[in-house]
Amino acid sequence: MKVDLIIKNAKQLITMQGPSRARVGKEADDIGIIENGALAIDDKRIIAVGNSEQIAIDYQSKNMIDAADKVVMPGFVDPHTHPIFYSTRENELEMRIKGKSYVEISQSGGGIRSSISGVRESSENELFELSKKRIERIISNGTTTLEAKSGYGLSTQSEIKMLKVIERLNHNLPITIVPTFLGAHEFPAEYKDDRETYIKILTDEMLPEVAEKNLAEYCDIFTEEHVYNIEQSRRILTKAKQLGFKIRMHADEIKPIGGAELAADMGAVSADHLGAASDKGISAMKESGVIATLLPGTIFSLGMQSYARARYMIDNNLAVALATDFNPGSCNCDSMQFIITLACLNMNITPAEAITAATINSAYSLELGEEIGSLENGKKADILVMDMPSYQYLPYHFGSNNVEKVIKNGNVIWDNKM
Ligand SMILES: [Zn+2]
Repeated sequence: MKVDLIIKNAKQLITMQGPSRARVGKEADDIGIIENGALAIDDKRIIAVGNSEQIAIDYQSKNMIDAADKVVMPGFVDPHTHPIFYSTRENELEMRIKGKSYVEISQSGGGIRSSISGVRESSENELFELSKKRIERIISNGTTTLEAKSGYGLSTQSEIKMLKVIERLNHNLPITIVPTFLGAHEFPAEYKDDRETYIKILTDEMLPEVAEKNLAEYCDIFTEEHVYNIEQSRRILTKAKQLGFKIRMHADEIKPIGGAELAADMGAVSADHLGAASDKGISAMKESGVIATLLPGTIFSLGMQSYARARYMIDNNLAVALATDFNPGSCNCDSMQFIITLACLNMNITPAEAITAATINSAYSLELGEEIGSLENGKKADILVMDMPSYQYLPYHFGSNNVEKVIKNGNVIWDNKM
């Protein structure tokens, strides 16, 4: 049979074959390796997976990719990013090294508030061009599906502007970008002492308008002692659910205030960060099928040690996903490869578990696990050809890009050898 594309001779073909759900417990360590593997791709989808001899007998194509001595694996799915902003904030890294606190940085004009004024004062076009370049670099590092949040506008108009930028990026870039509304990222300065009024704007104005314009799939919130408490979070998320949004949460990053438990209670698809999540919260998430999306890049970039307990979560059958948390303040990392290194070395999970968390489980964290995240018959052909001899090489060789080719829907969208 003639097909659009064949990828052959992969030293290791990482299929991620397994049950049609996020992988838990020991499943996470099984990545379905085929030695000397090959794939046949037709009409944007994978139609055959096997060893190279068998695929060569059954399929022919004018387009062949020879992956000899290389690893072929699913494209990375990055389910937590904040890529829409105006200025970068590298000066804050130096201030942190010199011992300045979050409050001192904020008082000298930095922190999230500087990102908010940047977004408010720039045009949709400016934000689009800046964000497009950033996401192109993310693509070159192997990400084929990306979640992107608003949350640096914190007014109806500027949050809508951010979501429109995300919509345009999704149409203009070759990868899939999933939009999330994060109007509850912080309290804007003008409502610092009148939080109830801002919550009212969120529930009565922003959420209905975002829903009406169909600009976001998910509603996210920063649930933490100094931002949105449990009661406020519950109110906002309840309204979001009524309007048809699915839920993700920034939960229990710093203190165990019950964010993980609330995520379970609200039926969130994902709860993220979780550096301080309690045993009870972890078990509640497991019972409700909430995925734990962990962001070790943020802890690393802030020079902290409070990594989420990924080892405990996996051992207790909670599904774990990984994301970059790409953002202008606490984590300016566009590489899921580096996140995998951090997850292995600082959260004590195996290379295979980290790859599971960065592909199939992160796909389920965006409810896209039936379409992407593994190389199985019928799935979208979102594939990486990696210039490396084995999957263990991925966390081992860090600080440079192991990706040779990025394939989205069966088309090569990035080739680092060109
Ligand atoms: Zn975040």
